[in-house]
Amino acid sequence: MGTFDGRIALITGGARGQGRAHALEFARQGADIVLADRCATPATVNYPLASADELAETAQLVADTGRRCIAEVLDTADRTAVDALVARATAEFGRIDIAVANAGVSVPGSIQELTPQAWDEVIASNLTGVFHTVSAVAPGMAERGYGRIVTVSSMMGRMGGPGIVGYAASKWGVIGLTKSAALDLAKSGVTVNAVAPGNVSTPMIHNDALYSLMRPDLEHPSDDDVAPIFTMLHAQPVPWVEAEEITRVVTFLAAEASAHISGIVVPVDAANAARVTG
Ligand code: NAD
Repeated sequence: MGTFDGRIALITGGARGQGRAHALEFARQGADIVLADRCATPATVNYPLASADELAETAQLVADTGRRCIAEVLDTADRTAVDALVARATAEFGRIDIAVANAGVSVPGSIQELTPQAWDEVIASNLTGVFHTVSAVAPGMAERGYGRIVTVSSMMGRMGGPGIVGYAASKWGVIGLTKSAALDLAKSGVTVNAVAPGNVSTPMIHNDALYSLMRPDLEHPSDDDVAPIFTMLHAQPVPWVEAEEITRVVTFLAAEASAHISGIVVPVDAANAARVTG
């Protein structure tokens, strides 16, 4: 018997990285999976987002566990598409019990440099997309009296940072949304919580654009060249944590037994949380 036997879990940004890790663990523990990913990279994002092949690969890995999987290419900023996926999942799988609003992009830029277009992209993917995901699943969950929603913020949703103004604003916004939605849904059997990762070892941080931004003095910076800079963002001496460490918290919050945990933010950030209030 798995913790999520018979449950249906929606994971946005599920093609790779943390979303893939979450999907596979929910599937291993018995859930059927609904995946959404944009599978395209807009001009305002300076590293490649997931491909359609990666989404298909995640869907195959879920199928290999013996669970069912719906995988759709969609942009969470597109409300019509999100509603259509929730309707399809409800028609094919009966309902959605768990939603992980994980899709997001990293868009660097200081207040002096960030363009309005880049601001729009990071808010659309990281905040409006989370609103669309949560608000699309919440009414059905509330009607059935059961739901577990996990949003993905960041350690940058708990502090400021240089050169990351749009991303930080979007991730602070996710926390405001999460806490308010938790109260809106408090009487309906639906919990809403956030996880706030530090640096996670996924393509969002392991990419040439970010490496070059961190080490402009080097032509082709390596993992070893950037690791000390990533390490400074944490208090424990590790440059990054693994996606599966975030999955442990997501599955904890998504469990039926976490019924009376709602409105919280759980950092998984190698003790950076100890440096900030909240
Ligand atoms: P990732 O780039 O590997 O995965 C993000 C996924 O989201 C990609 O597959 C991408 O194609 C998808 N995506 C992006 N925008 C989308 C949109 N509008 N609609 C649908 N899909 C979209 O990176 P990750 O580390 O797995 O990121 C997952 C979440 O964790 C993000 O919200 C990110 O901001 C957050 N996060 C990441 C880190 C980190 O260091 N990697 C730290 C803190 C928080």
